[in-house]
Order: sequence, then C-alpha cells, then structure tokens
Amino acid sequence: MTGSATQPIEVGGRTISPGEKRQFRYSVGTSFHGDPIDIPVTVVNGENDGPAMFLSAAVHGDELNGIKIVQEVAETYGPPDIHGALVCLHVLNVPGFMAQQRYIPIYDEDLNRSFPGNPQGTMAKRLAHTIFEEFVSKCDLGLDFHTSTRNRTTMYHVRADMRDSDVERIARAFGTSVILDGEGSNGTLRKAASKTGVPTVTVEMGRAHRFQSTHLERALHCVASVLAEHEVLPDRPVSWPGWTRVVARDGEKTWLRAATGGLVDMKWGPQPLVEDGEQLFTISDHFKDEVEVVRAPSTGLVVGVLENAVAYPGHPLCHFVSVDETTADIIRDDIERGEFDVYREGGFQRPEYGESGEYEGRDPLS
Ligand SMILES: [Zn+2]
Repeated sequence: MTGSATQPIEVGGRTISPGEKRQFRYSVGTSFHGDPIDIPVTVVNGENDGPAMFLSAAVHGDELNGIKIVQEVAETYGPPDIHGALVCLHVLNVPGFMAQQRYIPIYDEDLNRSFPGNPQGTMAKRLAHTIFEEFVSKCDLGLDFHTSTRNRTTMYHVRADMRDSDVERIARAFGTSVILDGEGSNGTLRKAASKTGVPTVTVEMGRAHRFQSTHLERALHCVASVLAEHEVLPDRPVSWPGWTRVVARDGEKTWLRAATGGLVDMKWGPQPLVEDGEQLFTISDHFKDEVEVVRAPSTGLVVGVLENAVAYPGHPLCHFVSVDETTADIIRDDIERGEFDVYREGGFQRPEYGESGEYEGRDPLS
C-alpha cells in the first residue's frame, strides 16, 4: 500500500506529489463505438503524512447520490486540509451512467459482481480489473456509495464486514444508525477490496436517478467523520451517532415476502419504525376475493421496501430488521426530531427498500 502523503501517490498512471491536487480522466476501456471509456478522477495529495482513502460512486450507473457526494468531497478538500490522500472516483460504471441504467448496457453485466476483475475476462471484468489495479489497490481504505435500485428506496445505512476490525472502524466512524453486517456478495467492490487489505464499506441511501439533498448533507458529514477517525482530518472530532444498530449476519434481518402475487397496498409509514404485529402490506387480486395481510414479525425497522405496487408470489416486499425496546425508544425520539423525514424526500409516497445476500443469482439491490 501507498498512503504516505509525504510521498508521491501513484494512481491512474500518474504521480501526484505531496501538496498537489489533480483532476483528470483515466481510460479504463473502449466502447463498441471505438470511444475511450474514461472515468473522472480527483486526487488530493495532502501536505502531511497519512492514509490514502478512495471514494467511489456509480458502480451502478443510475445511482446518482454518490456522484454528488464525490463531487463535493473533491471540491471541498485541498492539500493543506488533509493528512494523507483522497482518491475520488467520480463514476465507475461510465457506460451505465451514460445510459442511466444500473448495469453495463447491452449485455447487462453487473460491475459490482466483477471485482477484483480479470484483464482477460468480460467487459465488466476488464473494467473492474483496471479500476482495482490502478486505483483501489493503491489506497488504504475506501467508501463505495450506492442507492437502492429503481422502484425501491433504502434507508441511509452502511454495509460492512464487522468481523474485520479495520472495516468495523470505518463503519462505526461513518456513523449511520444502522449497519448491516456481512462480507458482501462475491465480486462486490467492498468485498474484493477488503480481502486484499483495503478495508472498504458500502454506503446505501435513498433512491436511484436523483440527488437527495438531506442524504447528501448527512453523507458529507459522515465522510468527514471517517477522515477524522483515520486522522486524515486530525483536528476534527469523530461524530458518533446517537445509537447504532448492528444487524448480525444471521437472523435479526429478514425479507418479508408476498405469499401470493397481486396488488400491493402499503399500510405503514411514513416512518420506518413499526410495532410488533402492525399491518405492513395487503396483497389483493383485482376482485379483492383474496387479500393477504403481511404484518411486522416484531418491533423493527423497515430498512428498505418495494416501491412498485405489484408483486409476484415470493417477491420480497421489504427488508426488515428487528430492534429491542430500548433501541425502539431512541428511534422514536429520532423520529420526533425529524431524523427520518428524508425517507419521504423525492416526491414518493411511502418508504421503501434495498439489500443483497438472500437473493439467488443477481442481486437487484445495492
Ligand atoms: Zn448499487
């Protein structure tokens, strides 16, 4: 690893000196039209020694909140401000971003199932390989920003492998109220990076296809907190959240699914805290002959939820996390203070969902 900012940092085929900030585009591949696929990069190499952190966005091309966060971070910090280096990868899946879709267009490959990549592999594997070799592997830690996929939304939270103490340190310093613990699916950037000694967490927030200002403001604060924890910003305090719920890898979180297919009515919200037995959804046929009622299995949080109002049998309706009464009380106070109001931001009617793991095959979330 590099990361000593009194040394030059070598990323993307360039050498950036201590005290230097450089913005450039780096070609990671070629389109079928013969054009280069360039990712925009900002490197800030601080005047003082410290770790190198990457921030990446839009590994899923339509997940825009992260792009705005990376843009703001790249603008905000200069070499005098930091001890270490920031490697800002503004858009990873450029073809997906151009088409405003999640996967790499045409063959619908998931870049976030392709890391650490393969120079002899498919398009996605090649892109992943170049990104990984030229940037990620040169850093000491990382934050990868996501949103839910279209037709869903997700609570602001972090996903991290909490068995890895370096990953745990980042996750806790980031300071979301909910951390979903797990190593992540194979091929995700965070799993591949963490396995090769670059501890990385995924940050999830909101919806695809928009900038959600409340999430963005909060995220910039959280990024600064991680930088403080790692002494990239040595004079800034780490801001711990009022409460943190680490959801274990087994149990505690569950998908509530539709037993029957049909039209989905959301009966809960707008806040994500629901009580044991509370009616969450009804699923009905056109004639309302059959109405299935889906209830909360305990007091808990709806971390993410379907936004589309139709479901096939077995379709996940929401991602549900149980909480104990003490935590529930703190969340109620947070709700009073408007902490979760952003859940309704963006003009949608009701809260929604997002996550991985339990899906067979391609994970449509995260
Ligand atoms: Zn994503």
